Amino acid sequence: MRASFFSSKSVAILVSLVLTTASAALAQQPASSVDSRCSVTVPPPAAGAPGGRAGAPGARGGGGAAAGGRGGAQNPPPITAESTRLTKVRDDVYVIQNVNNVVADIGAFGGNITIYVTDDGVILVDSKNDRMHDDVVAKVRSLTDKPIEYVILTHNHQDHSGGAAKMQQIGASVIISRDDRLHMVRGNQPGLPQFAYSRDAVLFLGGKEVQLKEYCGHTRGDTVVYLPAARVVAVGDLVTTPDSIPQIVNYGDGGNWTDMGKTLDAIAALDFDFMVGGHGPVLTKQEFLQHRDKVAGIRERARVLVKEGRSQEDVAQTLLRELNWGSGPAAGNIPGMMVEFR
Ligand SMILES: [Zn+2]
Repeated sequence: MRASFFSSKSVAILVSLVLTTASAALAQQPASSVDSRCSVTVPPPAAGAPGGRAGAPGARGGGGAAAGGRGGAQNPPPITAESTRLTKVRDDVYVIQNVNNVVADIGAFGGNITIYVTDDGVILVDSKNDRMHDDVVAKVRSLTDKPIEYVILTHNHQDHSGGAAKMQQIGASVIISRDDRLHMVRGNQPGLPQFAYSRDAVLFLGGKEVQLKEYCGHTRGDTVVYLPAARVVAVGDLVTTPDSIPQIVNYGDGGNWTDMGKTLDAIAALDFDFMVGGHGPVLTKQEFLQHRDKVAGIRERARVLVKEGRSQEDVAQTLLRELNWGSGPAAGNIPGMMVEFR
């Protein structure tokens, strides 16, 4: 796959056809994994349960969330100039963020997008929702007239991947891990990525390097996108802040808390100054390290409570009382934790 990143778009289309066929075959295998870094497999809660995998794509989520993401909106509010904002991180790195960091706005306006500007084109990390496409393109156009060449998806959830199809229509190539591409196939999601990789890949554009690293945690194949020259890392829903958008795993898509902890430790070993999480403000490395420790505290407290034989209700109430975690979308993670930590 690595060689393909250097090749022309016509070769890319050929590769895309091959990958599409292979992935369609793989999608027939239940719970299949290509080359996952997950060390723990938690059986997804039964269909219909919070965090479970139901038949309808819209029912998949980390707990009561819509469209494999979070906070779906049946009648989403209109997109205005006040819905999102462009934040500068470096001269060549920007983030499109929702102005209000609340769960309720995620279904309407999607997650964070990172913009990396090069002389030969633009690389995006994530794509927000389908309905946000014009807003995203307008914000990129305010920075540069170079085309959007690549869109790297941190994972399959619609608030991050839902804009992929429209990005392809304007000529962008979309990239995701092989495992999370399988999740998109299984969810009948539009905009299936032309490129899929396992473990590691490197993308070069306009003299700049982008490292893609596959980890397990929020899903079975989260992609961490590292920009070494800019000292910026974009990690999708492996990190969500502030507290109003709680950190969760998606058990239905192969995520688990044990591997998320290992992944956050691996991210901490990277040399960076700024982090873009899936939702919420840009973090300094120090803020991320504090967040990582807080996440570890939630995980290890939950592990002890489950091992003590506490009831699900008791675990939920205790985590909420002691660590202020477990309400909203996080409540849907408790049944999976009861299985993962027993
Ligand atoms: Zn997600």
